Amino acid sequence: MTKQYDMIAIGAGSGGLSAVERASEYGKKCLIIEAKTIGGTCVNVGCVPKKVMWFAANAATQINNAQGFGFNIEVKNFSWKKLKQGRDNYIKGITDWYDGYLEKLGIDYIHGFGKLVNKNTVSVNGEEYTAEHIVLSPGGKPSVPNIEGAEYGITSDGFFELDALPKKVAVIGGGYIGVELAGVLNALGSEVEIFGRADTLLRGFDPMIQEALDKDYTAHGITLHHGTTIDKVSSDKTIFTNHGEFGGFDQIIWAVGRDPMTQHLGLENAGVESNQRGFIPTDKFQVTNVDNIFALGDATGRAPLTPVAIAAGRRLSDRLYNNMTDRHLDYSAIATVVFSHPPIGTIGLTEIEANKKFDKIKIYKSEFTPMADALLNHKTTTALKLVCVGDDEKIIGCHIMGHGADEMLQGFAVAIKMEATKKQFDDTVAIHPTSAEELVTLR
Ligand SMILES: Cc1cc2nc3c(=O)[nH]c(=O)nc-3n(C[C@H](O)[C@H](O)[C@H](O)COP(=O)(O)OP(=O)(O)OC[C@H]3O[C@@H](n4cnc5c(N)ncnc54)[C@H](O)[C@@H]3O)c2cc1C
Repeated sequence: MTKQYDMIAIGAGSGGLSAVERASEYGKKCLIIEAKTIGGTCVNVGCVPKKVMWFAANAATQINNAQGFGFNIEVKNFSWKKLKQGRDNYIKGITDWYDGYLEKLGIDYIHGFGKLVNKNTVSVNGEEYTAEHIVLSPGGKPSVPNIEGAEYGITSDGFFELDALPKKVAVIGGGYIGVELAGVLNALGSEVEIFGRADTLLRGFDPMIQEALDKDYTAHGITLHHGTTIDKVSSDKTIFTNHGEFGGFDQIIWAVGRDPMTQHLGLENAGVESNQRGFIPTDKFQVTNVDNIFALGDATGRAPLTPVAIAAGRRLSDRLYNNMTDRHLDYSAIATVVFSHPPIGTIGLTEIEANKKFDKIKIYKSEFTPMADALLNHKTTTALKLVCVGDDEKIIGCHIMGHGADEMLQGFAVAIKMEATKKQFDDTVAIHPTSAEELVTLR
């Protein structure tokens, strides 16, 4: 095995893998180093296992909903164990596949903890390797608050290790991960309470989405404790808060943010700067303050999403090795989905952000019970909003909650990225009967 490379990536998650994969396609010799499991957060303890759980939760909801359509069935004999086994096998299939894939591309892979020695050298398992370009893609890990009894809770990583469906769960944090895990657990039969510091779920999202989700989660039996700070947790999993004590939980899940894995990366050895929270700032070309060292993905603290890390990694290698001198990721108007129940899709500015940025904006919105729920006892809300600006009403924000929002948004995101106007949406003939048609008929 050589010790000299064109590119070395530390961290084999979405970002690092994409950078070396693209570089190797241009004939460059690459090494990728991974301390835990190839695939990183997304494949092992993020998007993929989360989405499997979301599908399972949807199956439970569909079975219950079927009664409204005349089927005499109910959820019974649900096996969490079988679900977990199937999910773990599916993920193992993906991680096993990576081994062969890297080999086929001629990318060297080392399992171990990578550390910068200087601006061209990385050490792993006691050996040193050099490269012209070094990519830092170490991702992040779930934060755990520094309070008494924090160890009685688990994180999203621990959620994926659970061997049984908990009976009663406290999810601490009303951000997207907290909301997603709470939705899954609730649909599968746990009693769920969400404790969050903010006054709504999903801080930073459009207010219409926050209100609609609050209403739906409450209607579906999830107890919401807004404006709550946790002081301590006792060994019997009682939570002590500014609003009193809450107990009887068999699991507490911390979903209070994620910290970058940059602490032991040896940044100081190469003179790479990080900010107070440990994130590594870069310019628009992913370059850190050291000209041959790049940072990608969650460790940069910008838009922590898998496709963002992938796009940044691929563009970096396009620029370095394929003469595409201005190739970089445009971080504006990135679409994202929250896999809540029902899901949420959002792109661009919220109404509040747009009001701060522009003198005059125009809002189009609609809220209704989707036809899919018309015959059901448990109905959900569909809420849609377009945020427009200027005389031509350019669409600068689109926010959707409702069945199918996850699949609905991607196509609209293309149009919005192409700077579509409200008139162009209106000129598009609707597809009927769908919820999506509302977006081209809003008045
Ligand atoms: C519960 C959950 C659900 C999510 N759902 C979604 C979703 O639905 N859609 C979406 O787009 N995103 C989702 N994300 C976010 C997504 O997983 C991340 O944005 C993405 O994985 C970031 O990629 P990355 O390459 O920056 O880091 P990671 O994927 O975290 O990869 C970094 C890798 O580097 C390794 N590493 C760290 N330090 C070292 C070192 N010194 N040496 C060697 N290896 C090291 C780590 O072990 C890790 O495997 C979710 C995240 C979580 C936690």
